[in-house]
Amino acid sequence: MRILLVEDDDLLGDGIRAGLKLANHAVDWVRDGDAARLALLDHSYQACVLDLGLPKRSGLAVLRELRQRESHLPVLILTARDSSADKIAGLDAGADDYLTKPFDLAELQARLRALMRRASGAATPRLEHAGVVLDPASKRVTRDGQPVALSAREYTVLHDLLTHKNHIRTRSQLEESLYAWGEETGSNTVEVYIHHLRKKLGADFIRTIRGLGYQLGSAN
Ligand code: CA
Repeated sequence: MRILLVEDDDLLGDGIRAGLKLANHAVDWVRDGDAARLALLDHSYQACVLDLGLPKRSGLAVLRELRQRESHLPVLILTARDSSADKIAGLDAGADDYLTKPFDLAELQARLRALMRRASGAATPRLEHAGVVLDPASKRVTRDGQPVALSAREYTVLHDLLTHKNHIRTRSQLEESLYAWGEETGSNTVEVYIHHLRKKLGADFIRTIRGLGYQLGSAN
């Protein structure tokens, strides 16, 4: 999943980015409100972690504009301790959840999983299709009850396809999930991961929609 992190504190931002990368997310990190605004206009993300106190443009202003554009992007705001006014303003401006600094990285990750799960319309944390089950909390994947070992990139592609079950995902959408800014993308990496996933999950598990992209195969 690709996440936009907006945080002007170097130490905190670095820690959050490292934690999210460990959880297999592609993270774009910006440090002020103007850069956040541009990133949100130019890229598609699965979630945004947004500090409220930012240079150039406040997190609240960024959030309000996002919601004015009718974006449903899940947004988790970071607020200073003891600032319940900030939390209320943030939630009223369209934030989905908040965390008070300092917070535990594991809690941030769990809250993001919940936000992205709700955004995908899934009631249960586990994603399932045609005998394949992915559990985002444990990062385990099983096929007909048997564990399947996936690389971090294969897992990310599978997670993306499972969260967009009835949609065709283009190669560039899958690349957006896989890579943050400045990361090298090889020329046929998405194809390679799809190939590996088919070997592990069954040749028909992922269909190629010629000229468009990829979609999960029929469940029968
Ligand atoms: Ca700040």
